[in-house]
Amino acid sequence: MIPPNVILIDHPVIQTKLTELRDFSADHRKFRELLNEIASLMVYEVTRDWPTKPKPVQTPLEQTIGKVLARQVTLVPILRAGLGMAEGVLRLLPDARMGHLGVYRNEETLEPVSYYHKLPPDIASTEVLLIDPMLATGGSGTAAVDFLKEAGVTSMKFVCLVAAPEGIQNLHRHHPEVSIYCAAIDRQLNEKGYILPGLGDAGDRIFGT
Ligand code: URA
Repeated sequence: MIPPNVILIDHPVIQTKLTELRDFSADHRKFRELLNEIASLMVYEVTRDWPTKPKPVQTPLEQTIGKVLARQVTLVPILRAGLGMAEGVLRLLPDARMGHLGVYRNEETLEPVSYYHKLPPDIASTEVLLIDPMLATGGSGTAAVDFLKEAGVTSMKFVCLVAAPEGIQNLHRHHPEVSIYCAAIDRQLNEKGYILPGLGDAGDRIFGT
């Protein structure tokens, strides 16, 4: 059962680009390009319910009241693959600040371990988009949300490209109020924690490693 706060963005243009991205013959240049394009397109859905505030604006003809996003935005890519979506999101949200988070979940203590973090000081008062192309076991996603909550963040969404049912369940079990946006829910994880059919190791494909 997929929880109700999982939003699958199955727009035909996104699905076409995702299919090209899955193709093993897409090289790192093509992969990066497609990943950022999809990330940009996903922003429309992800931000749909964000509040706006009125803003006076002088047009060439008269004064009127427009609308702008009510809150500052912080983008937090989970290192390293999350960086592959950041540019695409920033294209639509150019005023966003960007934090960086390298985390994993210690499988024995289940505590989130941050091996690198640099966040805007006022992140707690902003809308946060946590981004990582692959939601696989959900271990690092859950640890990242734990970490951001400890930093005082109250409004965040998890944005990925491909999610495994196992990762969705894990993240949802720990953080049921965090909405998960994805472009595909794939079949399962393999024994090494890769998503099937998936697209391989997103970090390796983005960075050509
Ligand atoms: N991370 C990846 O990059 N790919 C997977 O399939 C799972 C986790």
